[in-house]
Amino acid sequence: NSAPTLESSALPAPRDGIAGAAPYGAPQLEVAHALNVNENPYGPSAELAAAIGRAAADAAVGLNRYPDREALALRAELGAYLAAESGIEAPEAHSVWAANGSNEVMHQLLLAYGGPGRTALGFTPHYSMYPEYARDTYTDWVTAERGPAPEFTLSVEAVTAAIAEHSPSIVVLTSPNNPTGTALDLEVVEAAAAALAPTRGLLVVDEAYGEFRRDGVPSALTLLGAHPNLVVSRTMSKAFALAGARLGYLVADPAIVDTVRVVRLPYHLSAVTQAVALTALAHREELLGKVALLRSERDALDRHLRERGHDVAPSDANFILFRSFTDRDAVFEALLARGVLIRAVGPAGWLRVSLGTPEDNAAFRTALEEADPR
Ligand code: PMP
Repeated sequence: NSAPTLESSALPAPRDGIAGAAPYGAPQLEVAHALNVNENPYGPSAELAAAIGRAAADAAVGLNRYPDREALALRAELGAYLAAESGIEAPEAHSVWAANGSNEVMHQLLLAYGGPGRTALGFTPHYSMYPEYARDTYTDWVTAERGPAPEFTLSVEAVTAAIAEHSPSIVVLTSPNNPTGTALDLEVVEAAAAALAPTRGLLVVDEAYGEFRRDGVPSALTLLGAHPNLVVSRTMSKAFALAGARLGYLVADPAIVDTVRVVRLPYHLSAVTQAVALTALAHREELLGKVALLRSERDALDRHLRERGHDVAPSDANFILFRSFTDRDAVFEALLARGVLIRAVGPAGWLRVSLGTPEDNAAFRTALEEADPR
């Protein structure tokens, strides 16, 4: 981990911001209960795994050729899925864009709409990668604070004041937010879109956890027609149980999609990825089949943690942020020693646990009794 100094090394010098920086690194440990990166704990059935394998084999026959650069078949299917999921009219393929995870989608947005002399605005506590997209693209990253714990809400006033203060080219709103789990009222999204319109700023709503939102909580997808500067980003990594395949996507005005196409690397989405994602979309009932269970496990864990006396952030996602009674790093380590891996993120003293299977969640509760006694 120790980066050699220039004096001690003949190696080339990385640029400012990169030299000495650590790569993204949530621990990847072999543990009985991995509850640290908000994955869906349920993998595909043997039948679906075989279907995905067949699709990959069919794609393999043509791997001497570059993949379909525009992935229009996949983009159309993603649009059809969103229509069913959010009750919107199916966006046409040219309004949808796909890349290797929503990380790449957002990186591409920053490449196209950020850059030197431009500012991107987010709200703390936020997903750890946002400042890194900004660094990579020479965009200034500025933040304002979400409302106080344990609600961590974001008000129209806070968002419009931060936009007025920073004049950002890009605003990133996350709903439900990572690491707090907070979903946004659509009036906040609308106010941000309206506040950015006069300066032609871009509003990105990151809905990586959108499918886990509680009943009655609408998606920002429903606002797309009314706000041409709005982008909604989604992923197949979470509810869709496909983190290993790397497929994220966005919906926006086709002009925004066309702008992103300028900065994307040629053939960025492999033929295998496209085939796997199309097969997964065709079997979405199975892959999304555990979302209801994960939501009810979330609500049960929320109640359990409150009954123990923890401060708990209300969550619309597949994880819960809660405040530990004692030193959070000690609690993290004591849980790990019991085979339960969670995440020490968010404000000091808070911990985030992803929902796993009922067995995982029971193991977490049991381990917490000893790791963080009341
Ligand atoms: N946005 C948020 C809020 C996230 O939490 C994550 C992953 N943890 C991502 C985007 C990126 O996920 P992926 O690249 O797997 O789509």
